[in-house]
Amino acid sequence: MPHTPTTRRAPDRGRSLLGPALELVHTGRAPTRSALTAALGVTRATAGAVAGELAALGLVTVDQHPIGSSRGRPSHRLDLAPDGPVVLAAQLHADGLTVALAGLGGSLGEPVRHPLPARTDPASVIGAIAEAGAELIRADHRRCLGAALALPNPVREPEGTAPAALTFGWPGDTPAAALFAAAMAAQDLGPRARRPLPTAVANDANLAALAEHRHGAGRDARHLLLVTSGHRGVGGALVVDGRLHTGSAGLALEVGHLTVDPLGRPCPCGNRGCLNVETDPAALLAAAGRPSDPTGQLLDQARELTRTADRDPAARAAVHQVVDRLALGLAGLANILNPDRIVLAGLHRDLLAAAPDRLPEAVIRHSLWGRCDQVPIAASALAHGGLVGAAELAWGPYLADPQGVAG
Ligand SMILES: [Zn+2]
Repeated sequence: MPHTPTTRRAPDRGRSLLGPALELVHTGRAPTRSALTAALGVTRATAGAVAGELAALGLVTVDQHPIGSSRGRPSHRLDLAPDGPVVLAAQLHADGLTVALAGLGGSLGEPVRHPLPARTDPASVIGAIAEAGAELIRADHRRCLGAALALPNPVREPEGTAPAALTFGWPGDTPAAALFAAAMAAQDLGPRARRPLPTAVANDANLAALAEHRHGAGRDARHLLLVTSGHRGVGGALVVDGRLHTGSAGLALEVGHLTVDPLGRPCPCGNRGCLNVETDPAALLAAAGRPSDPTGQLLDQARELTRTADRDPAARAAVHQVVDRLALGLAGLANILNPDRIVLAGLHRDLLAAAPDRLPEAVIRHSLWGRCDQVPIAASALAHGGLVGAAELAWGPYLADPQGVAG
């Protein structure tokens, strides 16, 4: 989308272009200076000055040798600076925690996984995440500019509280954002991290949707619905015109508590047969008559089961049962939200792979409008969407104002 021209003085205007320009390079939409010129809707000289300023901030590199292009004159390549700053991305799962450092461009370093600490109260768990993250930050040679945490529960905005942290039995309105900020502030982050380190916390499905929209299977979708099941429960999120739809208090799209079987399994929310308990790894393992070891890796066990569905009748029947319930939920969501793409992540991605025809057909069958055949259902493209999304959250202030990286 061309940048809206303004009547501000040139230096102000240049500054206001820095954020949009960095976002274009960050999302792969401006691999060259001429692509940047066209996307911003400015003159070549202005685009060159903006690219130069991003390079001076140490965020991008501008190749001095023009490269040929299929149309028009040669242009200069734009890349994200390989040794540019990083942020800490962290994710809490029902059965462990993961941390990674992330540069711009959706690039993620090797995620490091840790078991949960012995005590699972909020301060102990969030303290363990901060400690694991600080270890990565200290060991890296790049500047760390921020940290963000993906949580497997709703997060109320703007307070950053977890109103119903069902997974760990945390008390209502746990101050997750304040705990994370305090835990990071208490760490030794080495000489290169920004002090105090800006921190943020958000729901993992929301962050995965943002990540898929910017860097994965949701690119260019206008109304992207993401539904996912990690180790426990089901989450969802909606990205509208590039922004997360989070509702009035950050709690929108709690799709996990949509009823798909009124006589079904009890849900921690107090109802029965929620998508949350009918289409997650424990539900699939139970449908196949497999014991689910609560201390084991439920997601890995359930994924393995979907891969045996073509040769094991019990696994196939279980996959079909769970796929049909998922389809019921997706059809209801499509009726209400009218997305132009549905991305399935976590276990739901594996269910789509195991039933590539049955799932979309059942969504069409259950859709009120009978038009859901027009909604493509795609598998998520990112292996660690929650972490990539956490990085997006941490980069947010710098994408809005790249000059914030200085100092
Ligand atoms: Zn529920």
